[in-house]
Amino acid sequence: MAETIKVAVRVRPLVQREIEAGATIAVAVHNNAVAVNHAGQRRTFGFDHAYWSVDPKDPNFANQEQVNTDIGKPCLENMIKGYNFCVFAYGQTGAGKTHTLSNSPTKEKQMGLIPYVLEGLFTQHRAKFKNDELRIWISFMEIYNEQIRDLLSPGRETTDLKVRDHPEFGAYVPGLTEAPCSEISDVKSLLDFGTKKRVTAATNMNAGSSRSHAVFTIRAQRLTGPKPTTGNKKDDRKSLSSRVNLVDLAGSERVAKSGADGLRLREGCAINQSLTALGLVIKQLAEIQQEPINRRRRLSVDERTKAIPFRASKLTFLLRESLAGNSRTFMVGAVSPASICADETISTLRFASSVK
Ligand code: ADP
Ligand code: MG
Repeated sequence: MAETIKVAVRVRPLVQREIEAGATIAVAVHNNAVAVNHAGQRRTFGFDHAYWSVDPKDPNFANQEQVNTDIGKPCLENMIKGYNFCVFAYGQTGAGKTHTLSNSPTKEKQMGLIPYVLEGLFTQHRAKFKNDELRIWISFMEIYNEQIRDLLSPGRETTDLKVRDHPEFGAYVPGLTEAPCSEISDVKSLLDFGTKKRVTAATNMNAGSSRSHAVFTIRAQRLTGPKPTTGNKKDDRKSLSSRVNLVDLAGSERVAKSGADGLRLREGCAINQSLTALGLVIKQLAEIQQEPINRRRRLSVDERTKAIPFRASKLTFLLRESLAGNSRTFMVGAVSPASICADETISTLRFASSVK
């Protein structure tokens, strides 16, 4: 059962487009609270973490390192113990979701969560657990209009993959590429490869990649103790497995604004449907966490989560184990500080508060 769902909000700097449009800063962060001025009113929301990443000169400026310490570090600690972890980035297009998850510069301190976690696994883990063998596989998929596309398949497009339910391991996607990784450079090239594929496909369909959900999964297996040396010696090492999903959700902006028609409208419905389904699932999971301890002990996770509508969308079905298994979940709400985005910012903050 997911212990807790933690919610963080990150406010990015103004971008050129906003500066040119004459936007002013309408958002403020104080401790873990985020305030927004909109239509003459000031609205304040509280979270587990709030990051002010607007102005590097500001003493309260939170850089990527801060995000990695708060979210990436516990993720690593969980993986090493064999627990699952899940991070969702939610917010309007251009608000900083991909930056927070996938930024892969050469400067380590600016790495997004995905390169940070993998780098940590390779370096720290190897230094700390010299005797253990660590195996890592990566998969990267996109869900667009309720269809799953493999972003790591080397050749032909693999689209419309199915989600199946495995009696022991839960939801999985047969045929999805799982690429073994042994160096951080493998990860960077896979991340680049998948990201390019995502953008190309989106352009071909005349859609923005912001209209799909991207799910990056790290599967790690740690075999503890020395490797058996001779070929016929039994391998009795203890195996700890974990799965981490880092989900770059579709832009949460309301479709009406961009003049929805035909395909756009259908897309918009599919996006909203899966974001709504996700919100509902997370909220109901949080509610059953509040149940009396007796009931919690009496019923299994399956029984307690039976009524939760995981199957309402591919996204929630796929992430059921991450959300309801032995997982910890973080949601990062990404927002713009600009006055012209204040209504979308409020809607993101509202969503982020509702899952707590
Ligand atoms: P999204 O994935 O939510 O659509 P992006 O992550 O692509 O948004 O961010 C949009 C733009 O803002 C990019 O140019 C990105 O580099 C910049 N940006 C986002 N977050 C930050 C941040 N925390 N610090 C600096 N620049 C950022
Ligand atoms: Mg993005």
